[in-house]
Amino acid sequence: MTSSFETRAIHDGQAFDPTTGAVVPPIYQTSTFVQDGIGGFRSGYEYGRSANPTRDSLQTVLASLEGGSHAFSFASGLAAEDSLLRAVLSPGSRVVMGNDVYGGTHRLVNRVWRPWGVDLVTVDMSDLDAVRAVVAAAPTTVLWVETPSNPLMKISDIAALASIGHDAGALVVVDNTFASPYIQQPLALGADVVVHSTTKYLGGHSDTLGGALVLQDAELAEKVGFIQFGVGAVSAPMEAWLTVRGIKTLGVRVDRHSENAQAVAEAVVGHPAAAQVFYPGLSSHPGHELAARQMKRFGGMLSVGLAGGAAAARQFAEATEIFQLAESLGGVESLIGYPTAMTHASVIGTELEVPDNIVRLSVGIESVDDLVADVVQALDRVQ
Ligand SMILES: *Cc1c(COP(=O)(O)O)cnc(C)c1O
Repeated sequence: MTSSFETRAIHDGQAFDPTTGAVVPPIYQTSTFVQDGIGGFRSGYEYGRSANPTRDSLQTVLASLEGGSHAFSFASGLAAEDSLLRAVLSPGSRVVMGNDVYGGTHRLVNRVWRPWGVDLVTVDMSDLDAVRAVVAAAPTTVLWVETPSNPLMKISDIAALASIGHDAGALVVVDNTFASPYIQQPLALGADVVVHSTTKYLGGHSDTLGGALVLQDAELAEKVGFIQFGVGAVSAPMEAWLTVRGIKTLGVRVDRHSENAQAVAEAVVGHPAAAQVFYPGLSSHPGHELAARQMKRFGGMLSVGLAGGAAAARQFAEATEIFQLAESLGGVESLIGYPTAMTHASVIGTELEVPDNIVRLSVGIESVDDLVADVVQALDRVQ
C-alpha cells in the first residue's frame, strides 16, 4: 500500500515490537550483539558502529520521506556532510557551492578539505547564468546547493541546477535542512543527494543533534555506507530514537511554523525599524514564485534587516521575550539570532560574510498572536 507523507512519517521503519507488542519500538541502547556461534548474527546485527536497529529505523523513515532508496544517519549534520565528501572527493576535486550556504559547510570545505588539495569556488546559486559560467570554467566534482539559504532566504532552482550540474558531470547535492522533506523534495527535482542537519526541523524539539544523507544511486550508497562504518561518525541509538520521535509530527509542525512565520513576516513589513524582510512567502521576495512552485509551504525561517544597522540589530535580537537568543533553528520554540556574531561568525572576512544589520528568526509553534506581539514590541524598542 502506498501511503501519503504524514502516514509514512508515523509508520515507516517504526513497526511495533514483535516480542512485547510495544507500540513504540524500543531504543536498542547496546554497543554489540550476541552471536549464535561465530558469525551467527541475529537479524544481521554485529556491532553498533556498523548497524543498530534504532538507527535503521531512522534511516528507513528518512529514505521514505525524501523519496530515496538509501539513507544514512550521522552524529551531526556536519558529520554527514564530511562523510559524503570523503566518499566523493580526492586531491584535485573541485567543489562549487552557494555563496550563502550554512557557515559551517563553507568552513568544512574551506578549512578542512582545501588543505588536502580540494578547490572551492562560491557563486550565487540563484543566478543560473553565473552558475553555468563557474561550472564551465573547470571540471566540477560537486555542486552544493542550499535553498532556502541561510540567513538571506534566497531561493535557488533545484531542477535547473541539477541539469546544469549533470551536464558538467558533477554530483548535485542539496542541503534540505531549512525546508525539510515535508515541503521540498530535491531528489524528485533531480538532485543526487539530500543532506540534512536533523538537529533542526526533523528532530524538531532542540533536544538532539544529528545529520543524514539520502540518495538513490547504489554505487554511491555503497561508498557512503563504507565511510559511515569505516570512519564511524554514526548517530547514537538515543539520538536516532529522539529524531524518529520528532519526525512523526513533522508535517503538522512545519504547517504551523510556516503559518506563524508568514504572520510574523507580514507584521514586520512596514515597521519603521525594519528596512528589509527576507521571507519567501512575501510576494515582494525575489524568489517568491519559484518557492511557490518548488516548495509546498514557505517554511518557518525569516530574516530582518534593521534600518538602524548593526547596533539596532543587536538591540532587536536581545529585546524579544518569547524568541530566545540562541543558535540553531527548527525547534518548536522560537529562537532569534544575530548571524554576524553567532551562526556566521566563522565566515567573517570571506565572500559569505553576512550584512551586520541582519537578525534571523526561527519562528516556532507558540501562539501566533504572542509571537507577533513579541516581535513588534522588540522592534518598537529599537532606537
Ligand atoms: C545546522 C546546519 C548544518 C549543520 O548541522 P549540525 O547538525 O549543526 O552539524 C548544516 N546545514 C544547515 C542548513 C544547517 O542549518
